[in-house]
Amino acid sequence: MDFELTDEHRMVQHMVREFAQREVAPVIKEYDRKQEMAPFVLDRMAELGILGICLPVRYGGQGMDYIALGLACEELEAVDTTLRVVMSVHVGLNSLGLLQWGTEEQKQRLLAPQARGDKIACFGLTEPGAGSDVAALQSRAVRQGDIYVLNGEKMWISLASKAHHALVVARTDPDAPDPHDGLSAFLVELDTPGVTTGDIHGKLGVRAGSTGWIAFQDTPVPLENRIGEEGEGFKIAMSCLDNGRYTVAAGATGLIRACLEASLRYAKDRHAFGREIGKFQLIQQKIAYMVQSYDAARLLYLRAGWMKNRGLRNTRETSLAKWFATDASFEAASQAIQIHGAYGYSDEYDVERYLRNAKGAIIYEGTSEIHQLMQAAYALEYRRDAPLRCELPPYDAATWQ
Ligand SMILES: Cc1cc2nc3c(=O)[nH]c(=O)nc-3n(C[C@H](O)[C@H](O)[C@H](O)COP(=O)(O)OP(=O)(O)OC[C@H]3O[C@@H](n4cnc5c(N)ncnc54)[C@H](O)[C@@H]3O)c2cc1C
Repeated sequence: MDFELTDEHRMVQHMVREFAQREVAPVIKEYDRKQEMAPFVLDRMAELGILGICLPVRYGGQGMDYIALGLACEELEAVDTTLRVVMSVHVGLNSLGLLQWGTEEQKQRLLAPQARGDKIACFGLTEPGAGSDVAALQSRAVRQGDIYVLNGEKMWISLASKAHHALVVARTDPDAPDPHDGLSAFLVELDTPGVTTGDIHGKLGVRAGSTGWIAFQDTPVPLENRIGEEGEGFKIAMSCLDNGRYTVAAGATGLIRACLEASLRYAKDRHAFGREIGKFQLIQQKIAYMVQSYDAARLLYLRAGWMKNRGLRNTRETSLAKWFATDASFEAASQAIQIHGAYGYSDEYDVERYLRNAKGAIIYEGTSEIHQLMQAAYALEYRRDAPLRCELPPYDAATWQ
């Protein structure tokens, strides 16, 4: 594994950092307080090409690799988690799912406008009664000739009220002996009759982001918008999560870095007992743990990105990166508040927002408990990943044009 970033990677880091630091950082507290997404965010991310960063140029993307995607997510979440959430759902969970499982016609018709940022995409798996237990989902899609009629409700959906497209998993065969095999995936255009969306208010974190619900009432979904074969919905959803979790891991790494940088600044500035608090060993211990977490989280997500670039199955490595980075970012945010004392407990500083935002990532895209179960199952050899009919294509600079 080569740890050297290319000039292109460094260019992405610089461009995304400039956008996040200059355009979003000055206003993020205001939008977090208002519990609204800053109105310019999606348009600017589209203009800068961030929404199609790792998609082939022929599908409207920027033609960069999966490491570039990770680096962009790290820079975005170093400013605010809500920016990285856009990448997780638009790119990780939806667009890369289309790249992996879509037909050539679907990639031209549905993926290309997403990669260009003309259409915003989200991912609808969770329901009011089904989260971790995906096979329990109740949404129903019934085939009637050349359409499916979709009924059901999706809950806790990032960008629900902002998106034009949703990758939705619904039950097509209620009699399948294994309920996992009764699910299918659809790309639903959200201006279709019978679709309503709304926002969820009162969240602990990601307040400058958009989280909501999508309801389907007799919504007609054309056959040509089914992704993969009937019955492949569970496998498709899990492979989308392999990509979404990668973006969450990389973003959480950026959040750890933000906690570390804020703590270093404060520890040198704040004085107690006649010296700067950074001189106290108990403060140094907290900082040392943040340094350790940042490096470990970064190496774990870069390994997963390196595997994606080579077309290697990375479900285990991505799960490990996501679990480690999100738990570590929550701990880093908690310790950053401790270092800031009472000031850290107020929104005068960013660290209280970091803590509220970090908690969400321990819940979505597989709770930490689910990732622990996965890691133990791999170690005990209770779980082995069977090859998929469609794997995520390896990055190839020539064919990515
Ligand atoms: C801010 C935010 C954004 C989100 N965005 C999206 C989105 O864009 N699209 C989408 O589809 N979903 C989204 N979600 C939903 C998220 O993926 C689910 O919340 C998550 O999968 C957990 O499901 P649940 O909340 O129903 O919890 P449950 O599955 O009900 O779990 C409750 C608790 O039980 C534990 N638990 C469950 N099963 C086990 C087990 N077998 N062993 C041990 N413990 C277990 C869990 O770890 C958890 O602690 C989002 C959630 C949040 C908070």
